[in-house]
Amino acid sequence: MTYFSQLLNRFNESATIKVSKLSRELKAAGKDIIDLSIGEPDFNTPNHIKEGAVKAIENNFSKYPPVAGYPELREAVVHKLKRDNNLNYKAENIVISTGAKQSIANLILALIDEKDEIVIPTPYWVSYSDLVKMAGGIPVLVRTKLEAQYKLTPNELEKAITPKTKLFMFSSPSNPSGTFYSQQELQALVQVLEKHPHVLIMSDEIYEYINYIGKHESIAQFESIKDRVIIINGVSKGYAMTGWRIGYMAANVEIAKACEKIQSQFTSGANSIAQRASITALNSDLTASKEMTAEFTKRKHFMVKTFLNIPNVKLYEPEGAFYVFPDVSAYFGKTTKEGQTIQDSDDLSMYILQNALVSCVAGSAFGEPNCIRFSFATSMSNLEKAAQRLLECFSTLQ
Ligand code: PMP
Ligand code: GLU
Repeated sequence: MTYFSQLLNRFNESATIKVSKLSRELKAAGKDIIDLSIGEPDFNTPNHIKEGAVKAIENNFSKYPPVAGYPELREAVVHKLKRDNNLNYKAENIVISTGAKQSIANLILALIDEKDEIVIPTPYWVSYSDLVKMAGGIPVLVRTKLEAQYKLTPNELEKAITPKTKLFMFSSPSNPSGTFYSQQELQALVQVLEKHPHVLIMSDEIYEYINYIGKHESIAQFESIKDRVIIINGVSKGYAMTGWRIGYMAANVEIAKACEKIQSQFTSGANSIAQRASITALNSDLTASKEMTAEFTKRKHFMVKTFLNIPNVKLYEPEGAFYVFPDVSAYFGKTTKEGQTIQDSDDLSMYILQNALVSCVAGSAFGEPNCIRFSFATSMSNLEKAAQRLLECFSTLQ
């Protein structure tokens, strides 16, 4: 079709959203699908947060909110960053958006010109490289290894940076690998970044509360680079609020203002009721989030055990987020009972969907073609059923 823009051809539809759509369709058609594709907590939003929304409706929060977010919500983010991360920001540094995804999109559109280079360690979250491509930038993908727990080393970062590098983007804890950078590991990366003052740093911390080693570390804690760090976070994962669509960024005032400008043209600001509910979420204690993480911890143990029981699968035990990302490359080249040869993780994830009725996302979507991502943000009974089916499914491949 000739009437579509060139922009539309530059990027792919989100693979996570695509597989989850397919799972929904198959379920609607009566198939007993266990959906381990999309990453969203299966828990309900805690009651006190829902009550915050009900009050907002009753109190007529029905007008356009300020583009960058209600002052009380920006203050709540400032309070959260001090309380949880010992970071000092002001409300003027905070922009509230329609999900962390929009915070990232705003940032990319505000910073990236054609041919700018963006350093992204792989495996990366599915939308990073496509959003960069949408803006005309060049994703510079640096492949990390399972043996290195999928962590970027200072040397690899140094080699990837050129005079054209605009931004370094990463998530810790990471989606999809569950990699978590310790304070020392971050410091080692900071030593490299200190030498390259033209490089900005996007630190996606949306899985902050889903952390299996107890304490989060933000790269913004290092004063020498703090002004160049853009923290991305939101309420989707830590408070089971994916559908409310509230995310935020903390950045220097110039970047925050630039993102506000972009947002003024795209959405005029995030949903008013969801913003009010998020004020309640951020100002209350973390009991509900901790309970959810305790449940994710049990599920993580179960999924790690499951995959270590499948012959020749290699796995890094996640330190955060709610995914396992096994390396299944030992199964490439094997044949199914029906005579199909499994070429890659795309073939294998499709075979798992058709044969085991378990949906999952091929690693190619995250820049790591040897792996497949399975979300464990679903009930233990679903996971037990899925584990049984997965064991059987892998055993059919010869
Ligand atoms: N970053 C990462 C690493 C994610 O996994 C997600 C999940 N969708 C997002 C950002 C976006 O989150 P949100 O639901 O707030 O848009
Ligand atoms: N972050 C989730 C995932 O990776 C949600 C999907 C999305 O926003 O693309 O599955």
